[in-house]
Amino acid sequence: MLVDYHVHGIGHRTNKHTAPELAKYIEQGIAQNLTEIGFADHDEYLLELDFSSFLYLQRRYPQIRLRLGLEVDYRPGQEKILGQRLAPYQFDYLIGSIHFIGDWPFDHPAYTAGYAAWDIDELHQTYFSLVTQMVRSGQFDIVGHLDLIKVFGYRPRRSVLDLAGSTLSAIQESGMTVEINTAGWYKPVAEVYPGRDLLEECFRLGIPITLSSDAHAAQDVGRDIARAREMAWAVGYRQVAVFEKRQRSLLPL
Ligand SMILES: [Zn+2]
Ligand SMILES: [Zn+2]
Repeated sequence: MLVDYHVHGIGHRTNKHTAPELAKYIEQGIAQNLTEIGFADHDEYLLELDFSSFLYLQRRYPQIRLRLGLEVDYRPGQEKILGQRLAPYQFDYLIGSIHFIGDWPFDHPAYTAGYAAWDIDELHQTYFSLVTQMVRSGQFDIVGHLDLIKVFGYRPRRSVLDLAGSTLSAIQESGMTVEINTAGWYKPVAEVYPGRDLLEECFRLGIPITLSSDAHAAQDVGRDIARAREMAWAVGYRQVAVFEKRQRSLLPL
């Protein structure tokens, strides 16, 4: 099954969360043969989400299942505040993502100068320890772009399997799902998140996967999802995770 579980209907405030705008995403998803599309906008736009449009859109497009998630920018120490902010809402799933190290937005093209301040292995170690904290918080269902720290192609000297080893153990213990996020193929690193080595290790550890494009515009919905599915299949996966009201099911891949 082709699903796209990481779609930004609002983009970076480049679109509005309205039925006509979201319909463009859904129609692209149908054109890409998706059976499910999961909208997961950044949590900073939480108050701009129009939940009522989803009921209407699901009726209008019965041929594709709509899910509503949220991509949360995890910050250590903010777990309680986050829990309070999200308590009024019923999402199908939450993606936990690391976009900041301290107050440095390391994946933002305008802030790449920050890399010069780090030993590259320490940077990767610091990033993965933040992912581990996010996982251990127990607040999320899906690990967003697991190895995003490689986005600009600054690779560690040490093996990524060493650097991410305890993170993968934490994911395994937590029961979380890892997304195969195809956006990495379009970044300077030109590699999917997670890379093949990490994905093979996820499979070995029995960590489920889902598929995602991280589309911030309608035309990118479903982008390379079929390619990601092929990669998952080649690694050994035969199931893909989907979510409803924070409950995971596994469908045939
Ligand atoms: Zn993200
Ligand atoms: Zn995203």
